[in-house]
Amino acid sequence: MPITDVTIIRRCALCSGQFGIMTVKKDNMRLMTNDLTWCDHCGKETREVRDIAEREDAVVAEQASYPGNPPVDDVTAAEFRRRRSAGIGV
Ligand SMILES: [Zn+2]
Repeated sequence: MPITDVTIIRRCALCSGQFGIMTVKKDNMRLMTNDLTWCDHCGKETREVRDIAEREDAVVAEQASYPGNPPVDDVTAAEFRRRRSAGIGV
C-alpha cells in the first residue's frame, strides 16, 4: 500500500516552537501557508512553517510495503552466515 497520509509538523517561523502536528492526505499537503497562528512563546500571531515528520522513516516504510522480495544485495555466503548467527534478520 502506498502511503497516502503524511504527518506535518507545524512550527512558529520566528522561534521554531512547535504548534503541533497534523496528518493530511498527501494529495492535499500544503507546506506553504500564509496563515497566522498564535504563538505563546512569541506572544503574538506569527507565520507558520510546516515540515514533513519522519520523512525518511516514511520512505523506508513505503519501500518495505512494496510487493515481492526485498532487494538482494551483494551478501556473500560468509557474510550471510555471520549475519544469521548474529541474529540480524536475513
Ligand atoms: Zn514563536
